[in-house]
Amino acid sequence: MPASEFQLIERYFARLGTTRADVVLGVGDDCALLQVPADRQLAVSMDTLVEGIHFFPDVDPESLGHKALAVNLSDLAAMGADPAWVTLALTLPKVDEAWLAGFCRGFARLAARYQVQLVGGDTTRGPLSISVQVHGFVEPGRALRRDQARPGDQIYVTGSLGDAGLALLAAGGGYDAGERLAVLQQQLDWPEPRVAASQALRHLCRCAIDISDGLLADLGHICEKSGLGATIRQAAIPLSEAVADYVHTTGDWSMPLAAGDDYELCLVIPAGQQAQVERIARTLAVPLTLIGQMESGAGIHCVDAAGNKVADLQGGYDHFRNA
Ligand code: ADP
Ligand code: MG
Repeated sequence: MPASEFQLIERYFARLGTTRADVVLGVGDDCALLQVPADRQLAVSMDTLVEGIHFFPDVDPESLGHKALAVNLSDLAAMGADPAWVTLALTLPKVDEAWLAGFCRGFARLAARYQVQLVGGDTTRGPLSISVQVHGFVEPGRALRRDQARPGDQIYVTGSLGDAGLALLAAGGGYDAGERLAVLQQQLDWPEPRVAASQALRHLCRCAIDISDGLLADLGHICEKSGLGATIRQAAIPLSEAVADYVHTTGDWSMPLAAGDDYELCLVIPAGQQAQVERIARTLAVPLTLIGQMESGAGIHCVDAAGNKVADLQGGYDHFRNA
């Protein structure tokens, strides 16, 4: 006999992630009861993954569990908040315990790594969809909002850009990545939220955003909210070997500039902090690269090595653009 909803909850969700002292009551009652530290604000964010839109139907459930939490932890990192709790709304077409076990393994491993506890959720039947809400803590006044950039501030990014986009292109048969496909696929399926980089650098940052929809689109949000523009030195954008190869052979910069799903951080830091930023970056296992600066005016200008403006690209993924 297939497991009931309550058996599934007990088996898979009742004890998932770290057991935290600030969880007064977790999974199992009508609500969870959670204790926010007196000197912190609660940062809350939610992301949904829908089969066929955000992932392929045959994706490894373990990587899906990881990614569903990772993209949410990425939002907390982008806000400069410390992860604490998570809720999970899971809509499943059928009870497939092997699938559920894999999903929970990926989710739980990442949750434990960042001391996150699953404190509640909802389990329903329908087309496969996963909604995760994360809760984190931030010192009042210290959140990394999008509206605080000033002209002359420097723009940094973590990691390398365009790998997830190129993995998608290759998976769809639009590019032959050869032996590099596995590395690209890893970036797409197992993104690492930049929590540690955020925690190490946030005291220096004016703004941050995670690059989920492409650099131009996401930096564009900082520009818009701050009433500014930006200049990006295209040659400075950090590229993996695979993406560098792709850009060289095709001349197409859309992967590092406009493709989504990288979950790297874009950080805006006042000029004059470069030595300190570089010192901290050396202690991180994550590359950090200065790619440009904020400007008065509007719009993002990409310039070549000589400082000349390069052609504009359509930026970013927008679910409703062609709807
Ligand atoms: P209710 O009928 O009050 O909405 P549910 O039967 O949906 O309660 O859930 C029972 C308990 O299990 C609740 O504490 C709920 O938060 C938790 N729960 C249900 N589904 C999940 C899930 N996917 N992940 C974590 N907790 C869940
Ligand atoms: Mg319910």
